[in-house]
Amino acid sequence: MTDRKAIFITGAASGIGRAVARLFSARGWFVGLADVNEAGLAETAGLLARHAGVNSGTIHKLDVRDRAAWDVALADFTEASGGRLDVLFNNAGIPIGGKIIDLGTEEIEKVLDINLKGVIFGAQAAHKYLKATPGSCLLNTASAAGIYGTPGASIYSATKFGVRAITESLDGEWDEDGICVRDLMPGFIDTPLLEQAPNRASNEDIRGRVIEAGLEITPVIAVAEAAWAAVHGEKLHTTVGKTADRLAFASRWMPGRLRKQTRTGGRALGG
Ligand code: NAD
Repeated sequence: MTDRKAIFITGAASGIGRAVARLFSARGWFVGLADVNEAGLAETAGLLARHAGVNSGTIHKLDVRDRAAWDVALADFTEASGGRLDVLFNNAGIPIGGKIIDLGTEEIEKVLDINLKGVIFGAQAAHKYLKATPGSCLLNTASAAGIYGTPGASIYSATKFGVRAITESLDGEWDEDGICVRDLMPGFIDTPLLEQAPNRASNEDIRGRVIEAGLEITPVIAVAEAAWAAVHGEKLHTTVGKTADRLAFASRWMPGRLRKQTRTGGRALGG
């Protein structure tokens, strides 16, 4: 095995995945960039090359919903990384917001498949490589929506509660294999995800709704630093940004008040 640590990142063509790729690359890691968006992947790779020189990592066109494609991508990646997989960053995800009765079957299934099945398939495919790499870590991107069920974002919340459950389950299940398992629970983060409409019927973007609700938007670098700290630390769940911190605090210490607030003030955010 080579000395250089290796991270494989899904959703690496944009936002959080790109920021994490840049930070780990700048700190000397070999980086595998995976996404469905090939143009975005090439852009991210260009940003890495400036930091780390020619051999900064690999690019993989991967749809996280495709279980067989995961095996191919990780086999290719570990061949290039000298056999190592120190971190799988299971990060690809899409938003969905809106009242549950207004959402279409197709858009519900798509978000369940990408946000939840994609994370499950990634964990399954990566296990043997993580087990073979001492001190390895599975890092999943959950969300503040995985702290308390968000009115107007029930499906998104359900996927992120699912990611949280997988994190907690595998933290126990994989302890004997020497693999640490962590997740990130960001609030609203300044990425292209906020430019999307919360659902097909909407012509507003998520960013506008967040601003209207008076919630802050956290710079993406904060998530990259949190990912670094999560991989190198002991915390199972890492919140990022004030909205996530407040929600975690309220759900623990004043659940009754939080419930009341979500009944009176809840709105479709879907971030
Ligand atoms: P983003 O839209 O900037 O990036 C998401 C990336 O995932 C895109 O490059 C997209 O092409 C990729 N992707 C989508 N479907 C895919 C698939 N089937 N296979 C592979 N890649 C796919 O969004 P982001 O904000 O960087 O989101 C990253 C993660 O962070 C998501 O899981 C999201 O739910 C989570 N998150 C985001 C926020 C936020 O406010 N931005 C907050 C909490 C959690």
